[in-house]
Amino acid sequence: MSATKSKIELHRVMRSELCNRCGTCVGLSDGHIRFRDREGKYMPEVVKELTNQAYDRIWNACAGKDFNFPGYRDQFYPGTPHFHTYMGPYRDLYIGHAEDSMLRSSGASGGILSSVLIYLLEKRKIDGAVVTRMSPEKPWLTEPFIATSREEILEGAQSKYILTSVNEILAQSMNFKGVLAYVGLPGQVQSIRKLQKAGDPSVSNIGYIFGPFYGNTLHFSSVKSFLRSHGEKDYTKIRKLYFRHGEWPGNMRVEMESGRIIQLKKFHANYLIPFHIVRNSLYCSDFTNEFTDISGGDAWAPVYEERGRGFSLVLARSTRGSQLLEEMKKEGWLNLSPISEKECIDMHSHGYDFKKRGAFIRIGFRRFWFKPVPDYGYILKGFTFKRVLMEVVISLLFLVLGTRLARWSVEQFSPRFIGTIFEKSRTTWKRSTHNIKRDELK
Ligand SMILES: Cc1cc2nc3c(=O)[nH]c(=O)nc-3n(C[C@H](O)[C@H](O)[C@H](O)COP(=O)(O)OP(=O)(O)OC[C@H]3O[C@@H](n4cnc5c(N)ncnc54)[C@H](O)[C@@H]3O)c2cc1C
Repeated sequence: MSATKSKIELHRVMRSELCNRCGTCVGLSDGHIRFRDREGKYMPEVVKELTNQAYDRIWNACAGKDFNFPGYRDQFYPGTPHFHTYMGPYRDLYIGHAEDSMLRSSGASGGILSSVLIYLLEKRKIDGAVVTRMSPEKPWLTEPFIATSREEILEGAQSKYILTSVNEILAQSMNFKGVLAYVGLPGQVQSIRKLQKAGDPSVSNIGYIFGPFYGNTLHFSSVKSFLRSHGEKDYTKIRKLYFRHGEWPGNMRVEMESGRIIQLKKFHANYLIPFHIVRNSLYCSDFTNEFTDISGGDAWAPVYEERGRGFSLVLARSTRGSQLLEEMKKEGWLNLSPISEKECIDMHSHGYDFKKRGAFIRIGFRRFWFKPVPDYGYILKGFTFKRVLMEVVISLLFLVLGTRLARWSVEQFSPRFIGTIFEKSRTTWKRSTHNIKRDELK
């Protein structure tokens, strides 16, 4: 593609809902692109003109506009024994957790991802790991960094549900001497895979790629709104912000400089989703982080949820990912029990439906309104009328609840009260739509 075209197209994506804020454009721009207004719209902007070559390089690595799933699968997972449209390529499926109870409780679910990083570091298979923590300077924002010790990896543990731009780190990580493990969300991982395929030197030291499952992320407005609902107006007075604090599934917890602690069950804090969801999440069709070596999600099933303490669903995709998990199991680092594909699908049927079926219907709506759409190299279609109608209702809900008036209205009620209603309605909604969704889940 000509550089002028790259420039025009990149600018278009940067201003649109196709931008997933992965941070690659910032990381590769040598300071010419930066994120503006991280507590607000959080969009990349060009602050100094780039060369044509730089535009070409960044545009090729942008996963917001396209990512050819079948093509990248062939490239990175040749001969992988299993594949499912919802879960991508995989070798092994497990339910598991870290054997070390401290590591287990430090993680978002079973502490698997952090344990894997610590294991690699202690066995000297890596020299550092790209992880995401809450910023020490601005504890209400996230920041990627290179962890080089067990303590630093644990600083990055736990899920952050507001926007993160892990690939900003490329500016720094490309100069890191030694092998790196990298942890990112699907859009971020896809961009790394694009750079790897292009043989870009910025990623030549990345030896392993891991990542969490990904339902959605929220704008920072969610945190501001959460605070306002509790009568706190100034987010700069946040001392610590957690999204999964305490025993699994954990709590959203804010510690203020004043010493005040505000806490709400994770399932109740989910009420923030329809009001503050990042719209790009709605067009991302990768739920299980399909292009990693190992990916992990919560083991959402009553049998595990009742037990508390933290359980993960773990997918080993590459040979090295599979060997690593086996090794860690043998050496007593991880407790892993194999499960079937069907159990996996059942456990997250809601998530698969939302990201695989829902995303393609929503992309269809965009196409209908002549809006730009991402090209994933495959399309799922043939949904029943009822399923499309359900998506119309969901999309309208997101549209209405995302308005200022709706956000203001919800802040007039106690989050505990709204959270309880939200959890109950979600359960009823899930139950009532069970058949519509299951009909199509194969
Ligand atoms: C935004 C988001 C949405 C998610 N949605 C779902 C879902 O719908 N269903 C589900 O089952 N699971 C979801 N997960 C995954 C789940 O919350 C856990 O991350 C997963 O179970 C792994 O747990 P763990 O204890 O092994 O990870 P941990 O040991 O806690 O390690 C997590 C790793 O992920 C990194 N990380 C955390 N947040 C981010 C972020 N925002 N961007 C980049 N890297 C990050 C951390 O730095 C750390 O290295 C989501 C995670 C995130 C971050």
